[in-house]
Amino acid sequence: MNDAEFQAAKRAALVRQGHHCQRCGRNVHDPALWPGRSGHHRQLRRTADPQVRHSPENIIVLCGSGTTGCHGWIHVHVAEARRNGWIVPVGSEPASTPVRDWTGRWQLLLPDGTARTLTPGELIAIRTKEEPQ
Ligand SMILES: [Zn+2]
Repeated sequence: MNDAEFQAAKRAALVRQGHHCQRCGRNVHDPALWPGRSGHHRQLRRTADPQVRHSPENIIVLCGSGTTGCHGWIHVHVAEARRNGWIVPVGSEPASTPVRDWTGRWQLLLPDGTARTLTPGELIAIRTKEEPQ
């Protein structure tokens, strides 16, 4: 585990998200304000490919901690979190798994810390490819 890499990815995610919680949109600029904020590993920290574990495309910032706020919610509501791209199952790539933000926009998170917003057509094309045969 490389903590410096994780810290850098969290900073990149905060800028990418405009200091909003990825799920609810709450302003998380000041981490001292309840419920605080934390970095979430879309492909869970324990199981992620070490190459992408702390990379910006695998990190989103959420309000709360691992047990409170949206971060806590995601770990309890895994199926819904997967549908929204907040959790990426093993075998899928975080960089090619669309993630939904608080405005309802769908994006691909890029390894350089930026994101590309998907058109509805692109989203449908990706989703159709993902469907089990
Ligand atoms: Zn939130």
